Amino acid sequence: MNILILGNGQLGQMLGRAAVHYGHACLLVNTKTEQVMPVACYEPLPMSLQQATSWADVVTWEHEQLAPAHVDICAAKFLSPADKILQLTDRQLEKGLCDSLGIATSPWSSFKDQSELCSVLETSTQALVIKAAQGGYDGRSQWRFTPQQGVAAVDISAAGAQPGIVEQMIDFTCEVSIVGARNADAEICCYALVENIHRQGILSHTLAGLSDFPAHLQQQAEHAFQQITDALDYVGTLAIEFFVIGEGEQSRLLVNEIAPRVHNSGHWTMTGTSCDQFDLHIRAVTGTPFPAAVNAQPTLMVNVIGAAAIPAHLWPSDADPHWYGKDARPGRKVGHVNWLTNSRAEASAFIAREQQYLQVLAD
Ligand code: ATP
Ligand code: MG
Repeated sequence: MNILILGNGQLGQMLGRAAVHYGHACLLVNTKTEQVMPVACYEPLPMSLQQATSWADVVTWEHEQLAPAHVDICAAKFLSPADKILQLTDRQLEKGLCDSLGIATSPWSSFKDQSELCSVLETSTQALVIKAAQGGYDGRSQWRFTPQQGVAAVDISAAGAQPGIVEQMIDFTCEVSIVGARNADAEICCYALVENIHRQGILSHTLAGLSDFPAHLQQQAEHAFQQITDALDYVGTLAIEFFVIGEGEQSRLLVNEIAPRVHNSGHWTMTGTSCDQFDLHIRAVTGTPFPAAVNAQPTLMVNVIGAAAIPAHLWPSDADPHWYGKDARPGRKVGHVNWLTNSRAEASAFIAREQQYLQVLAD
């Protein structure tokens, strides 16, 4: 089949690699410039987005910040209805979707401007996180509030410059995500929950198969995955980030956010599984059956953030480095390293040893 992917960043390239895996033809679109290009090539073809869409049997995306003009051009070749997917680009609508499905999230309220935001904060006795409704990623467009420090400590002109949500600060046990795919027959194929560790709101590393989650959390996550993807008529890979609250049998999940696309916390699958999240997406959008079973091995995925290169000593090691070909700047994800290990202690030791070479965050 001919597959067109909106977005030509690293996720688009990895999806392109999976398209090649299964013998499909694949073009990517730089959604800032509308230039169309082949996989792993940054030389535009003399082809408009309209022409590329006509060429394609199916159009899919690597990021959900789709411009309305691009949706207009491509929507007839989408497998998931654009209006439903676009709900997930707005945190107010996303939280509303979870509420309507009865899926637990952190308690929240919405605000439309500075004065509404101030009213919420002035009456709060709890720590809160303020999030812009649209456009945030890697912890950007978020502000923290504590009753001790009060409203004066929040940059209200920035936080209230656009509509947003105010969420209760959750004292979570850990953060986890489920990554999986749904096909047009509403079948789902999900990986086991993974544990995610963030630094300054940016995903630092993912532990897959290295945490001891009670079985009911996996069931709760897969149930939420089925409900959400069904409600969206979604076809492809999708991720849901959760906070785990409580311990052991008393633990439960609160949805933090939903990403209707392949996701950074699924990158471990490129090394740790027999069918990675990009393969699942391509199978879903081309109507290819999911594998009967996905073999998975415990894997550590460490993001390379702001480092100029993969450190030389990792290339001849047993780690699996991925480099995105981007210019490095502090806080920017430029690659990731997967490492197979059965031991959480060894994974922690790997992080303690390598983080200094792999991650440069902004001050
Ligand atoms: P992404 O890059 O995953 O899209 P994001 O910037 O859109 O992330 P969130 O996932 O909402 O934003 O927040 C980033 C991180 O900030 C979370 O992973 C979590 O560590 C912390 N955080 C966000 N909301 C809360 C909350 N309500 N309580 C406690 N911590 C929170
Ligand atoms: Mg997040």
